[in-house]
Parts: sequence; structure tokens; C-alpha cells
Amino acid sequence: MDDLIRYYEKCNISKEVYEFGEKILACLKERFEDFDKTAEYNQLKVLHAMQECRVSEACFMPSSGYGYNDLGRDTLEKVYAKVFGTEDALVRPQITCGTHALYVALSSQLLPGDELLSVSGKPYDTLEEVIGIRESIGSLYEYGVSYSQVDLLPDGSFDLEGIKAAIGPKTKMIAIQRSKGYQTRPSLSVSSIGKVISFIRDIRPDIIVMVDNCYGEFVDTIEPSDVGADMVVGSLIKNPGGGLAPVGGYIAGTKKCIERAAYRLSSPGLGKEVGATLDINRTLFQGLFLAPTVTCSALKGAVFAANIYEKLGFPVIPNGSEPRNDIIQAVTLGSPEAVCAFCNGIQSAAPVDSHLTAEPWDMPGYDSDVIMAAGAFVSGSSIELSADAPMKEPYAVYFQGGLTWPHAKLGILKSLQMLVDKHLVDIYI
Ligand SMILES: *Cc1c(COP(=O)(O)O)cnc(C)c1O
Repeated sequence: MDDLIRYYEKCNISKEVYEFGEKILACLKERFEDFDKTAEYNQLKVLHAMQECRVSEACFMPSSGYGYNDLGRDTLEKVYAKVFGTEDALVRPQITCGTHALYVALSSQLLPGDELLSVSGKPYDTLEEVIGIRESIGSLYEYGVSYSQVDLLPDGSFDLEGIKAAIGPKTKMIAIQRSKGYQTRPSLSVSSIGKVISFIRDIRPDIIVMVDNCYGEFVDTIEPSDVGADMVVGSLIKNPGGGLAPVGGYIAGTKKCIERAAYRLSSPGLGKEVGATLDINRTLFQGLFLAPTVTCSALKGAVFAANIYEKLGFPVIPNGSEPRNDIIQAVTLGSPEAVCAFCNGIQSAAPVDSHLTAEPWDMPGYDSDVIMAAGAFVSGSSIELSADAPMKEPYAVYFQGGLTWPHAKLGILKSLQMLVDKHLVDIYI
């Protein structure tokens, strides 16, 4: 192993930082085995779906123009529906990102006079403009859709009394966000989402329940659609794209919901029939095939980071031993200098653009400057090793991804090394 230590030194990881990491890792064996088991289950789930849907070489042929009869696209949507246990799915490169997928899902079901209710508190930053919580051209609010919100209780659980009181005759749709996103609340387990969906159904069976599934896919052996959600929504440059998908988003759900979503995405009357995929079907299939083990690598990285920074006295969410419900790890570093050092550690470990320095910038859709470390093969991909932080109190950094566990490990050690070099943290064991 001396060779390995020497290689870490070549990557500017000091012996002290390396050994600190090894001590932490020695305690994580069982956790890692659990992640491997989940990956094994989900690998079988994806493979079985691909076999049942008869994925064939012909599915990798490019399509152009209108994209009528695109065998690859239509088969991929069947595979997604099987994997998520839904009647149908919309999986398209024309869905530009996760926010767009969520906008399509929401705006396809909500009509003027309807109300959207979020029962997991404030939604992800970019959805504030989609909904119209922050004023925006074309928001749901502008189209006469109202919004209300029930916050999670202080312990992070659903406020059942509050939800019951908030459901009214106008409530058409309920949104639940599985992952914490840029917040310091716990992420939600699929089973707790299932319980709240049953509770909602007992009050009003006709309400459409949509789950923002971003960063949650393949973390568990079940998905929110297995416990009653009408639609699950996410981005292909996060977990389900497995790092290979170059663009896209998905919505999996009931036949009725997906038909409306397709009519909204393309046009009334055309729906799922149009939408050329050019030459990307193979990467979408292959990415989905890799997604269970890629998500597993990201989870190992998240737990490693949680345990390192917890040991050093920083608040971490989730903590080092809690069950995982998404791949995001929040570490509250407490100062802008520490946030920049952390992110630049991640940047310097990247396969792409490792020589660049990450700087805070005014990113569209966010209400403060954001610093992002991303040396990704796919621009902005956050299933690849990445770290983002809004430059505001409490100066928490959100760390995620890692296509391989050894890369996630190097990135985390680099972030620690950067903090040590800048005298922002002391390693003592
Ligand atoms: C990433 C994310 C989104 C938005 O996805 P983009 O692809 O960045 O537009 C929405 N919700 C959650 C919880 C997310 O993590």
C-alpha cells in the first residue's frame, strides 16, 4: 500500500490527511455493505426491466425531424415505467433539466383556479419562480394557480394536522420534495412519503400527488411511485442518468398524468408522438444501466464526508450514522473562506477543469450568489463529484456525486487538505 500512499502524496494529499481518512473508513464497512446490497437489488431491477421491454440494438439508432416511431425513445420510456412501477413515463432530451421536468409536471395538471399545496415546506429554490412565490414571467401564479404550503415539523416529519387543515376544495395537486435540496432539513424516506400519501388519500382520493424525486433515485429499493405517488419527477444529469446521459429529464406516473404532461411538453394533439432523440438513446439506456452502482458510489462518498466533518466538529446533515434518503451531504462550514476552500478542494480533484478556481456567481434561479465546484464531463452534472453552496448564512456546502467511489474519496480528502492548508481546521484524533 506504500505505492498508494505515494500516489496520494503525488495528488497533494498529506500522509496526515490520508491516515485520518483511513481511520474514518475503518468504521464504515457495514454501511458500505448495505449500500452495495441496495445497488445489487436495483441493478437487477433495471436489468430485468430492460430484458422485459426487449431492449435491442435497434433502440440505439438516431432519429431526426419529428421523431415519429422512435423505437429507442419509446422503449426507454417503457423501461423507466417498469423501473418506477408506473403505467407510463416521459423521458426526453427536450426536458432541459429537473426544474423544467417539474414545471411540465405541475403546469400540465394545474388549471386556472386550482391550488397547489406543498406539504414538505419551502420547495427547491428554482421552483419559487415556477410557482410564483418569487414573481416571474409565466409562473403558475400568473396563470391563476394559487399556492399554499405546510412546513415540516421541527423534527422533520410531516405535519398531518396542518396538512388536513390546508386541503381545501381548490386543492388539485400536492407536491412533496424527497431531497432537502439547498436546505438544512432532513431528506424524506420513501416509507414516510408513502404514509403521508395514504393520509392524503383518506382525506381526498382524487388529489394528484407529485414527488420531486431529484437525487433520490436508487438510494432505496423502492421509489415514491411504489408507495402511491401519481408522478415522480427528476433530472437525467443526476442519479438516473448514471453520469452518461448528456441532457434530459423524466416524469414517471399514471397514464392520465403522463398524457397531460406530454401534451404540455410538445403540444396538444401531438403528445408523446413527436420528439427526435438525435443520437443519444444509447447513452440514456447505458446511463440507466449504470445508475444503481453510480448512486452507490455517491452514497459512499456522502457518508465518508459526513463522518469526516462530523469528527472535526462541523454540523452535518444527515449525520454520520443516519439512514440515507438522497445523495446530498450538507456540511455547515460557517464561513465564506471555508466554503470556498472546500469547493476548490473538490474542483482540484476533478478529471476536467481541475486547474480552474471556483468563484461565487449570480446563478439564474437562485436568490443569492452560488459557488459551484464542478469538473464534470457533462456540464453542470451533479451525479458527478460536485459541491455547491449559496453564499449566505449558515455557510453550508452541499456536496454530492462521484461516478466512482475512489474519485469521491479523493475529492473529499482534497477538500479536507485545502481546509488544513488554509489553517481553517485542525486534524486531531
Ligand atoms: C436539482 C434539483 C431540482 C432542479 O433540478 P435542475 O436540474 O437543477 O433544474 C429540483 N429539486 C431538487 C430537490 C433538486 O435537487
